[in-house]
Amino acid sequence: MSFVLALDQGTTSSRAILFDHAGSIRAVAQREFAQIYPQPGWVEHDPMEIWATQSAVMTEVLAKASVAPADIAAIGITNQRETTLLWERATGRPVANAIVWQDRRTAPTCDALRRAGREPTFTRKTGLVLDAYFSGTKLKWLLDNVPGARERARRGELAFGTVDSWLIWNLSGRTKHVTDATNASRTLLFDIHQGDWDDELLGLLDVPRAVLPTVVDSSGVCAETTLAGVSVPIAGIAGDQQAALFGQACLAPGLAKNTYGTGCFLLLTTGRTAVASKNRLLTTVASRRGGNTDYALEGSVFIAGAVVQWLRDGLKIIRAAPEVEALAASVPDNGGVYLVPAFAGLGAPHWDAYARGAIFGLTRGATGAHLARAALESIAFQGAEVLRAMEADASLELSELRVDGGAAANDLLMQIQADLLGVAVVRPKVLETTALGAAYLAGLAVGYWRDESDITGNWQIERRFEPAMSRDQAAALTAGWEKAVARAKGWA
Ligand code: ADP
Repeated sequence: MSFVLALDQGTTSSRAILFDHAGSIRAVAQREFAQIYPQPGWVEHDPMEIWATQSAVMTEVLAKASVAPADIAAIGITNQRETTLLWERATGRPVANAIVWQDRRTAPTCDALRRAGREPTFTRKTGLVLDAYFSGTKLKWLLDNVPGARERARRGELAFGTVDSWLIWNLSGRTKHVTDATNASRTLLFDIHQGDWDDELLGLLDVPRAVLPTVVDSSGVCAETTLAGVSVPIAGIAGDQQAALFGQACLAPGLAKNTYGTGCFLLLTTGRTAVASKNRLLTTVASRRGGNTDYALEGSVFIAGAVVQWLRDGLKIIRAAPEVEALAASVPDNGGVYLVPAFAGLGAPHWDAYARGAIFGLTRGATGAHLARAALESIAFQGAEVLRAMEADASLELSELRVDGGAAANDLLMQIQADLLGVAVVRPKVLETTALGAAYLAGLAVGYWRDESDITGNWQIERRFEPAMSRDQAAALTAGWEKAVARAKGWA
């Protein structure tokens, strides 16, 4: 019996998961690590702690499952995206803490580039918008602010990487400096159409080429690591959302997944075509296999499950997140109440940093139950908006939406999503789609899984939610939402 080991390096914890041939979980190990907030808007991680927790859970999961390293067919890596690291090649020592994707310190750099008219160049080549979220301006910040860093980078003494690169560098005994195309596509430095780092973009951000990793396929043996004296191939890499798309077997154009966590991450596979968005969605690399790049459209919603946390911690009308379902189900509808959870502005497709949260349509009869229902509906309305934008960009109609993430456990929310979309919502049996996607990419590379049909064959439905609402009723509800959003915009 052999397994594939997925290393899932997330924003708050490092996890290791063993998968078997059916794509089922054999064992999980997890360790949290410190979030460092040096000043408002800054978020850092200690790279040594990332490595220490990740290597610890790797050993732990094998012990837990009593699996020997010789029984590991391959390792797949998935990681928090965009988080930026810089280290010394000679010693393997980081020159600074990792700058985490949430860190806003480089927003002024992005503003300046935008004022200089550079955004269209970045968008055309990278599929991204100019935002502090992505790695490029974070790397520029490190090169600007760590004394001597740019000179040393030019001389080839320093290495830049996202978390995948950092892990593989350490796993390979500091011999391999690589990243995959999905992670590269989040840097603002990578031309997603050419599949290579771009000299013009490197010039705009003053990044020397010598600091960059080699870009490899998302599926393919790119390094080896030694576990208790046994050499194991590292054969898969993908950023977390792309890995989840793969783990959901969204391999063909037109298949989409939505992850309902703190926020929502929607990705739609567009196949070999990189679709440019007219609705400020991102165009991104879904995977690169055998040198062939598949693309996706991506849209993020900032506040999704977090609105349920707010009902719990802010309003205190529920004690735990799952209670929201029964409370919302205790009323037949929203009673005219709409909640716009623009606590941090609105993301795709609105991109209004000045929108703020608002509740509309209150009457004397409104209760906590109506608010709970409006909160769940707000998650579904936002998901539907992004999907409609994606369909318009890609000129296709979705046949179903695959779901995962913590809030996808909420049956009422899933039913509301299906009702609003008029499209079936499908929840798979294995909800650890991120780690599973990394495992699939690795297992395919070493022949553990033969081809895509093994992956699609493994993907099993736990529950399917069919739209039950009339389209007229869905349109009326959506009109109410749109009116509420319009009034919440530009508030701050
Ligand atoms: P993340 O990876 O962003 O931390 P998770 O996928 O772990 O998120 O999901 C946690 C989020 O889902 C929280 O915001 C929580 O409020 C929400 N959540 C968890 N269970 C439910 C539920 N049954 N109904 C609605 N929201 C839920």
